[in-house]
Amino acid sequence: MVNEYLKPKTLDEALAALAVPGSVALAGGTWLLVGEEHGTKGDLGRAVDIGELVPSDIGRKGTTARVGAGATFQALADSPALPACLRKSALSMANRNTRNRATLGGNLGADKSCASLVPILLALDATLEYAVRGADGKAATKTAPLAAWLERKDGLALTVSFEAPAGLLAASGRASRTACDVATATVGAAYRLEGGAVKDLRIAMGGFGPRARRMPKLEALFEGKALPDKAGIEKLAEPLLDAISDQRGSAAYKKRRGAVILADALAGAEALS
Ligand SMILES: Cc1cc2nc3c(=O)[nH]c(=O)nc-3n(C[C@H](O)[C@H](O)[C@H](O)COP(=O)(O)OP(=O)(O)OC[C@H]3O[C@@H](n4cnc5c(N)ncnc54)[C@H](O)[C@@H]3O)c2cc1C
Repeated sequence: MVNEYLKPKTLDEALAALAVPGSVALAGGTWLLVGEEHGTKGDLGRAVDIGELVPSDIGRKGTTARVGAGATFQALADSPALPACLRKSALSMANRNTRNRATLGGNLGADKSCASLVPILLALDATLEYAVRGADGKAATKTAPLAAWLERKDGLALTVSFEAPAGLLAASGRASRTACDVATATVGAAYRLEGGAVKDLRIAMGGFGPRARRMPKLEALFEGKALPDKAGIEKLAEPLLDAISDQRGSAAYKKRRGAVILADALAGAEALS
């Protein structure tokens, strides 16, 4: 239940409203307004609508891509400015009605274990511009690696950017029992090939802990070497995936599916530009 609904006109006003205890930023509402498991126990307190305050434009200048936190999943899926791996992650949210409302900023704020967009953005080493309330009460813009911001989630996410240089290969993936079922694992991977060997490999996975995160042990398996075939990747990766058994599946099932989508991502990674 929303006890109080506020629609500030400026970012300064929004940050001031959010500084009041019990306030929460409301974007598309597809996570906040659904269910009781989101830390709010169904009671949203003061909802501060930021829907029209955060940027929603998507663009690319040279090798730099930028996506406003207010961009919806559907806008990401439709954008010719974005690489296929990111559009595919957005489209992996099966329900179009939800894609029309759900935003990138909300995906980062919710930061669910199987968040669709977080693994590929971590694999692309994305950077986040965000706004915090300065000492003068005005909005101050800061920049941080997305991975660092996700650790503390201070302020409001404004714009995600990442580099898509020539030679970088990337892919994303999602495992679920059916297309519209909840995910059991998500993956994002990016690397270059140098003389047939994998370089600067970044792998991030969701579904193997409370939040999606980089997987250094998996990266170490393949960095500096020629990629094994898919069966070889699965065999090496599966023992390194830690999962819990729950309503989404047994730990063994999740590890198996995780290893398979990782192998698919590494073997199927495509150039970004
Ligand atoms: C039917 C259904 C299917 C779904 N499928 C998927 C799926 O496939 N993959 C997936 O990842 N999720 C899925 N979700 C969950 C949800 O849709 C996503 O997490 C979505 O990205 C949330 O975005 P939102 O704009 O609706 O955020 P909201 O619900 O408005 O907010 C989510 C959280 O983010 C915070 N927040 C919002 N904007 C910002 C910002 N700019 N800066 C900082 N914090 C912010 C809010 O305060 C809140 O804590 C699904 C939900 C539903 C109802």
